[in-house]
Amino acid sequence: MEIAKDIYQIEGLRGANAFLVKGEELILIDTGMPGSEEKILGFIEKIGGSPTKLTQILLTHYHWDHIGSAAGFKRKTQAKILAHPEDKPYIDGESPQPQPSLLNPLGLLIRVITSFYKTEPVEVNGLLADGQEIGGPPVRLKVIHTPGHTPGSICFYLPEAKTLFLGDAVNRRLNRLSLPPKLFTTNPVQARESLKKLLLLDFEILCFGHGDPITRDAAGKLKSLLG
Ligand SMILES: [Zn+2]
Ligand SMILES: [Zn+2]
Repeated sequence: MEIAKDIYQIEGLRGANAFLVKGEELILIDTGMPGSEEKILGFIEKIGGSPTKLTQILLTHYHWDHIGSAAGFKRKTQAKILAHPEDKPYIDGESPQPQPSLLNPLGLLIRVITSFYKTEPVEVNGLLADGQEIGGPPVRLKVIHTPGHTPGSICFYLPEAKTLFLGDAVNRRLNRLSLPPKLFTTNPVQARESLKKLLLLDFEILCFGHGDPITRDAAGKLKSLLG
């Protein structure tokens, strides 16, 4: 689905969303669950791109449904994998990924599901800092560090298209915006606080890790979530 000119949400993914930004090169934001790489590479061809042009893969945070196919991309493409330093140890396997509590039925369910979808650790080729810019005009993505959901959660801002990629900083479920579930969030208070930073930006489009994008009055909707 083309959300705006040269900005795509990959079609047919299960679990979490992934996005493609097309300039001279292709940049992928998140990779979906393990085993999604073929579907994403197929989508790149469908929109007339070439997998050889995929140069950078940006990870919004370390959760398995977002980084699951990163190792697959490492094998099949030359793309570099970039993430925030605070989430890097959970992506490259230096530290075990924190797991949701078994005392919560949903936590138990997620543990069962993730035991079937093994997420391979993958080398992180570069670190992303708050305020850093990636790519070049017309595709210039700015990194916004929004800790809370995970310590190294980051959003990406594309000023030319007034578009924000939120990862799991905000979820959109059943047409409503919400903060990410507490069960899967390291620091819910900080997660909410971090969103205030986003309201300082000029944006019209919001892209979520879960749920369909908002393409009109996105700033007003985010503002009312925090109201
Ligand atoms: Zn998450
Ligand atoms: Zn997620």
